[in-house]
Amino acid sequence: MKDHDFNGLRRRLRIVSLGQRLTLLDVDTFSWFVLTDPRYIAAIRSLVEDCAIDPEHTSILAEVERMLPTPRSIPEGYHTLDRLTLLVTQACNARCVYCYADGGSYGSNPMLMAPTTARNAVRYFLQRFPQIKQIQFFGGEPFLNTSVIKYVMEFVVDLYNKGQIISLPRFTVVTNLTTFPPELPDLLEEFRLQLVVSVDGPAFIHDQLRPLANGKGSFERMYRHVRRIQQITDGRQPVAAEATYTAKHVRRGISLLEIYRFVQADLGIPDVIVTPVETDDSTLKITDETWYESIHQVIQLGYRAFCEGDLVRVQQYLSPWLKGVNPENAEPWECELFCTAGVFSFAVDARGDIYPCQRFVGHPEFRLGSTVAAPHAFPSDIFEQTRQKMTSLIRKDHPECLSCPIRVVCAGCPAQWILADSVSASPVGPWCEQKRKLKIDLVALSLEMQEKHPERWHQLKSTEAAMVTC
Ligand code: SF4
Ligand code: SF4
Repeated sequence: MKDHDFNGLRRRLRIVSLGQRLTLLDVDTFSWFVLTDPRYIAAIRSLVEDCAIDPEHTSILAEVERMLPTPRSIPEGYHTLDRLTLLVTQACNARCVYCYADGGSYGSNPMLMAPTTARNAVRYFLQRFPQIKQIQFFGGEPFLNTSVIKYVMEFVVDLYNKGQIISLPRFTVVTNLTTFPPELPDLLEEFRLQLVVSVDGPAFIHDQLRPLANGKGSFERMYRHVRRIQQITDGRQPVAAEATYTAKHVRRGISLLEIYRFVQADLGIPDVIVTPVETDDSTLKITDETWYESIHQVIQLGYRAFCEGDLVRVQQYLSPWLKGVNPENAEPWECELFCTAGVFSFAVDARGDIYPCQRFVGHPEFRLGSTVAAPHAFPSDIFEQTRQKMTSLIRKDHPECLSCPIRVVCAGCPAQWILADSVSASPVGPWCEQKRKLKIDLVALSLEMQEKHPERWHQLKSTEAAMVTC
């Protein structure tokens, strides 16, 4: 019998020291095993260090090989639309200083989506994807066109009630909440519309970054409307706040942690989704170091809360980050793609034009087609080209990602890379080192949590939840 060379295993395995622990990482599944048995350590070490395999080690390595989970891939025929984003307005009543969408219009004349355009868009995608998991209303400011939001939800619920779609999507809206449409309470109640409100911190910083079109601050209105909605919904809404972190925060001494505290403790909104500002403006841009340092502070606070047994705060500060190192419960596409844009999610602008996501609106070279006029998107040359561009950035195939220990759980925004340099777009950059450190630190932290308080850890895992928008 020909000797087994274990080359596949050699490629998959890494020995990583996490604090006092020696661990084994399988990079194809991001599974971790604490190594304690010296025989196993010797066998694996000789394998990964490329030494000749000692016959004594063969049975141990064969056992390790059998024990490893099967790497996940997107199932053949997977056909779920993860998210359909409808730009129900390309107009906004605010002028956020970092807006990538030219004050909400994306470089065109301000406009609202017509009801027929919205209906056609939903129909168009339902013909191609039997299931839509989320319909996200976006803008500009979506509540400048509330009647179309209502119309779309009524239309979709009607299809569901008639048995024409197999499940109801989750409806979400990303809003500055500076308006309070009279029909909003009914929409929250009847359609379970989930509100995600943009909040950049306390009034003095929020107003600097998110002024209204008339130059006045938007905080007071947003705050008043959040309170009103909380009264109506017994505090269940808004479900999340979206915050953009900038160099202005840093200069004013506002840490990321303070934004979390403000949103959760002062505003009473449970989930916070933070992103670093995306801009070339040096007065706003933050460095990778600042960003990752800020995240580490938030995580440390979550860890302290865990040690104190405060699982509510753990869920607020730590759980969303821990979710990012646990591929077990991830969506099928997450094992291969950085994000679903242009593959399993799309955005439709107010005209009915289709883009991979809202970040590409206003860039005609990424217009995939139209839901209202020929040529449609599926199939078309531009659709195929864009799809290939989006999927060429997948970590499964990118040469540098292939050998990276965090490949399976690495996160990133393809739009940022493609729009910065569409010819040589790459996910790999100086930020990779920080990303790797963050993920590995999170694994070390979760091992410590499991060892220190196994029951608490178990309780936490059973209540895991997270919210994602873009
Ligand atoms: S950290 Fe960099 S090299 Fe590693 S998977 Fe992510 S993008 Fe690729
Ligand atoms: S991660 Fe980037 S490319 Fe993906 S949907 Fe969000 S903005 Fe678009």
